[in-house]
Amino acid sequence: MSAATTRSRTPDRLCAEAVDLARAAAEEAAAPGVVGEHVGLVSEGDRVVTHFFECKELGYRGWRWAATVTRASRAKIVTLDEVVLLPGPDALLAPEWVPWSERLRPGDLGPGDLLPTDQDDLRLEPGYSGEEEPLPNSVVSHEMAELAEAEDADVTPGTPAAQPTPSRGSIAAVAEELGMRRARVLSRYGLHVAADRWEESYGPKTAMAQAAPATCQTCGFLSPIGGSLGQAFGVCANEFSPADGRVVSLAYGCGGHSEAAVMPKPPQPAPPVIDETRVDPFPLRPARDSGSVPEAGDEETAELGHS
Ligand code: SF4
Repeated sequence: MSAATTRSRTPDRLCAEAVDLARAAAEEAAAPGVVGEHVGLVSEGDRVVTHFFECKELGYRGWRWAATVTRASRAKIVTLDEVVLLPGPDALLAPEWVPWSERLRPGDLGPGDLLPTDQDDLRLEPGYSGEEEPLPNSVVSHEMAELAEAEDADVTPGTPAAQPTPSRGSIAAVAEELGMRRARVLSRYGLHVAADRWEESYGPKTAMAQAAPATCQTCGFLSPIGGSLGQAFGVCANEFSPADGRVVSLAYGCGGHSEAAVMPKPPQPAPPVIDETRVDPFPLRPARDSGSVPEAGDEETAELGHS
């Protein structure tokens, strides 16, 4: 029979009456003066009752001293089982413990810190490292075996051998040159969460993008990025933009758009016009009477220009 079926919901009378025994036990376990009023009891099972006493200790608001008493079958003497301090329904409790890996926030990583990634990190998936492939010139290489077979066939008269190309070796070499020999690469999930994050900061729904005259897609300051994310994102290279150096959605935009407001060129003054058909008299000395204009043919008048 299970313990649950043997439990009695009605507290044992003798155990329920043993409040003084329970209080004495609680006061013995607690600091002096911190065991308060008897606040209730609960039946734990047949002839097992827990008495609760208010805890008056500062910092343990809502906690209760719990003294469990019991007695043997057909025995009249109640004895102490255990005494513990337990939180009540309105107890002040510490926040639930959260592992460091879940507490970590963007920006927490400082210089010299190491952030390990889980072996089964959903953001990553195995990349093409080439490690599982035998080296192209290895004796166990599949391609080398094919080449050896071809050479064997070549020495057979009348059967020209086709030379297979060691394609996998070539792919590995190209991949290494492009830097693709990584143990893990971004998974589809990793790509999606990165795209969502970037869209949130520099996406079309931001206030900046909503008020922008045009999108980054048509901006001369947008530097394209490679990979599949390059279809939706680029890097802003406008030092006056709030997104300078950031990955921006092609649908983002800001007032620094290269074509939004092209500055007009400063107006150029018109070239001077020289009238070479007229003669302008020019006095060598100022006239005695101010305001008088020297006559043409005057001795003291020189002529500039020519007719
Ligand atoms: S300057 Fe503005 S519009 Fe141009 S790429 Fe940067 S964020 Fe986009």
